[in-house]
Amino acid sequence: MSTNENTAPEQPGDFIRDVISTDVAAGRTDVVTRFPPEPNGYLHIGHAKSICLNFGVAEEFGGRCHLRFDDTNPAKEEQEFIDAIQADVRWLGFDWGDHLYFASDNFERLYEWAEHLISEGNAYVDDLSADEIREYRGTLTEPGRNSPHRDRTPDENLDLFRRMRAGEFDDGGRVLRAKIDMASGNINLRDPVLYRILRAPHPRTGDAWCIYPTYDFAHGQSDAIEGVTHSLCTLEFEDHRPLYDWLVENLPTPATPRQYEFARLNLTYSMLSKRRLTALVNDGHVDGWNDPRMPTLAGLRRRGLPPEALRDFAGRIGVTKSDSVVEMALLDHCVREYLNKHALRRMAVLDPLKVVIENYPEGETDELDAVNNPEDESAGKRVVPFSRELWVEREDFMEDPPKKFFRLGPGREVRLRYAFFITCTDVIKDAAGNITELRCTYDPETRGGNAPDGRKVKATLHWVSVAHAIPAEVRLYDHLFTRTDPGAEGDMADDINPQSLTVQADCQLEPALADVAAGETIQFERLGYFCADPDATPDRLVFNRTIGLRDAWAKMQKQSGGKK
Ligand code: ATP
Ligand code: MG
Repeated sequence: MSTNENTAPEQPGDFIRDVISTDVAAGRTDVVTRFPPEPNGYLHIGHAKSICLNFGVAEEFGGRCHLRFDDTNPAKEEQEFIDAIQADVRWLGFDWGDHLYFASDNFERLYEWAEHLISEGNAYVDDLSADEIREYRGTLTEPGRNSPHRDRTPDENLDLFRRMRAGEFDDGGRVLRAKIDMASGNINLRDPVLYRILRAPHPRTGDAWCIYPTYDFAHGQSDAIEGVTHSLCTLEFEDHRPLYDWLVENLPTPATPRQYEFARLNLTYSMLSKRRLTALVNDGHVDGWNDPRMPTLAGLRRRGLPPEALRDFAGRIGVTKSDSVVEMALLDHCVREYLNKHALRRMAVLDPLKVVIENYPEGETDELDAVNNPEDESAGKRVVPFSRELWVEREDFMEDPPKKFFRLGPGREVRLRYAFFITCTDVIKDAAGNITELRCTYDPETRGGNAPDGRKVKATLHWVSVAHAIPAEVRLYDHLFTRTDPGAEGDMADDINPQSLTVQADCQLEPALADVAAGETIQFERLGYFCADPDATPDRLVFNRTIGLRDAWAKMQKQSGGKK
């Protein structure tokens, strides 16, 4: 596994920016790019790389970037996906202004261009079945064979193509193919299919058409119609470029866009393929496209990842022509770095254990000042209520602590964050021997967290006042897959991590968390970052763990002596 894309500083130059710079220097100043999703699923973090690149270069070179839906396959496309994709691109922070386009808006023009190819002897109607076409196509080592229908006259082809459009033939009964070269070393040039018959209602054109252009025919021509100058796509389209160019050359297109290919993003512990993500959703392995374990933008948003962190990530991985796998830990690092600066701090106890402060008066409350974000003074302070009964984290107490455990234990003194020093005086258990409560005393002289006599404690714990606490469910997420390369050795379903979701049902939160808006991400002190989930009900908040506090990436960099 290589992480060679990970070390560049923000917004590095790259081969695509070099190409555009050269074009601009040569006087081609009208830089137009596009992000061209097929609306057959939700966007994932790989698409974010493409979005940041396309919108990013347009902005840097004073051009513009279009959002264009390549909606040529009504069998798989839905309005839900069209809407979700637009919401996701906006959320990521990009704006296409008036430049929202659909390949389907060009259907009439594409049809005319298909007739143009036919008239020039550059396309023909074929009666072979899909299987026969595949068989005739040959292989990487064997040339293809001409279809018996390849030499139909333009008139005959025009007549058949018009009848295809008129609905005279069954689905799949005939296709229109470009007449290029069945012996080409590039299989994409062996008379590729340009139109197929398909009776499926289209989200935008309804039943107007029963023939649809293929992706290859619609994509480049839509680029040309929109005046796209630099058509940026992923490496798997490199072999399609000669066809892209052939079509532009042989059609009266108003512009000559150029295609450039870059490496797609691969990320450890993830599958970045809509087909596979669709399977995860449809087979019930996750709770929908926006499940916080999904690498979709909708899932990452729900988990609490800030769009700024995704843009930072896209800048750091850079754009190259060589395939690599990026460590998930780098994404995590970008998320932590952003949230550390911007997230409010709050206290929350995920696995509560009750503490009774025996020398604290019953019914009284003290109000303590707490800092909202030590990284940002302007975030100000809040008041945290303290009272006789508190919740602390169960794992912050050990009855028989080993040497290196510095937190609470019998006879031990610790600091409660922003509050007082407390000492554990007694441990209460139920009949089964489970610890149900701790008895403690507090030192009123240590208000604010420091002892006037200068004595030190080795641990500071978070806590919540029982009388003021708000109940919550907290969902803890781990990688969706157990392998860094899910599906590499068999069925991806076998690599699903059974522990990818743990629900902590009885958490207790400090009262300031009552009015956090869904979607806001907060640091729970000592625990990590958590995002308020829309599943909250009036009597129970729900939070998703965005990420823990420990930075594996920074540690990896330190160990390898690398720089960030
Ligand atoms: P998938 O393989 O997930 O179905 P796709 O390429 O079929 O992806 P499209 O909707 O056609 O999905 O993609 C829109 C754009 O996003 C294309 O230009 C494509 O090259 C780019 N893209 C898709 N996946 C990635 C990725 N992992 N990294 C970078 N760009 C990507
Ligand atoms: Mg695609």
